Amino acid sequence: MTRPIQARISFPALQNNLDVARQSAPGSRIMAVIKANGYGHGLLRAAGAFTGAEGFAVIDLNDAVVLRAAGFRQRILLLNGFYGVDELPAIAENSLAVVIHHEEQLQILEATSLPVRLDVFLKLNTGMNRLGFKVEAFSGILQRLKRNRQVGSITLMTHFACADDEQGVDAQLQQFNKIAGGQNLPKSLANSAAVLRYPETHADWVRPGIMLYGSSPFAEKSAKELGLLPAMTFSSRIIATQDLQPDERVGYTGLFTAEKPMKVGIVACGYADGYPRHARTGTPVIVNGKLTRTLGRISMDTLCVDLSEIPDAGVGAPVTLWGEGLPVEDVAQVAGTVSYELFTKLNPRVPVVEFHG
Ligand SMILES: *Cc1c(COP(=O)(O)O)cnc(C)c1O
Repeated sequence: MTRPIQARISFPALQNNLDVARQSAPGSRIMAVIKANGYGHGLLRAAGAFTGAEGFAVIDLNDAVVLRAAGFRQRILLLNGFYGVDELPAIAENSLAVVIHHEEQLQILEATSLPVRLDVFLKLNTGMNRLGFKVEAFSGILQRLKRNRQVGSITLMTHFACADDEQGVDAQLQQFNKIAGGQNLPKSLANSAAVLRYPETHADWVRPGIMLYGSSPFAEKSAKELGLLPAMTFSSRIIATQDLQPDERVGYTGLFTAEKPMKVGIVACGYADGYPRHARTGTPVIVNGKLTRTLGRISMDTLCVDLSEIPDAGVGAPVTLWGEGLPVEDVAQVAGTVSYELFTKLNPRVPVVEFHG
């Protein structure tokens, strides 16, 4: 037998979640965001499950090249565009669309001669102040793009900072409409939270990411309530148990101390597998189908769980770290992070098992 840890990726769940995006934004084309190895689910695995999407969005040029080599013919957008002139031949050869968010990128494009015209997504900074052109620069940049022989189609885009919280999208949407509203060009604004909550942002292309993997973008609304199914189930097994007496401690720095006699289980999963090291005592975990909690420090290869109420759980008992039966958001919240980070930090040493239904 091998170490019992695994991540199970469910294709039916991925496809269900794409359907939810489709039903939420029926009039828009979908650019499925599969950056960062498909949010940890596997680049080609995610693309394969989302073949119904009209486009894919990635960050890394190499991911786009891999997608083309695998035969995907959809629009593929590089979300941060290119970083230097040396990437342009591969971009042209693979017919990739690029975000232009900074003047340097435009200068590079203007100084280059390519065999094909590039589809460009012109990114507007409507308040997030991360990437994109400000209002004042917009019309000048747009004129230069329109004049440029390297440029094929132009799509106007922006990205929301607060679509998932109570601040919402109003201010940024207003700003976007003020700049882009009069332009007869395709538009793209919505991330998952806006896909689910703000139909007025849907426009021509929506760009859902996290929802496709079955995680809710909202703190106060669960994935289940949104009709989303967890695509990744991270699981392992108990590999040892200990009986503690009162005042005996567990793990590094003896962070947890037993108050009464209790049974604890040692799980084959640690931070080197991608489990968050900062998860506190009390982080939810499922053993033998029952909800319990972690105890003490997370180690590199193991973590410790409370078996006080699950006395029949011995070596070999199944453990769910997150996924089916235990929302990843619940784990992320207690660990002081977000599902995005948990997904993308899944370590390559964890074997992946595909479920095709
Ligand atoms: C990552 C990303 C998205 C997807 O965001 P989610 O919150 O995962 O839906 C959309 N647009 C841009 C520009 C992104 O970088």
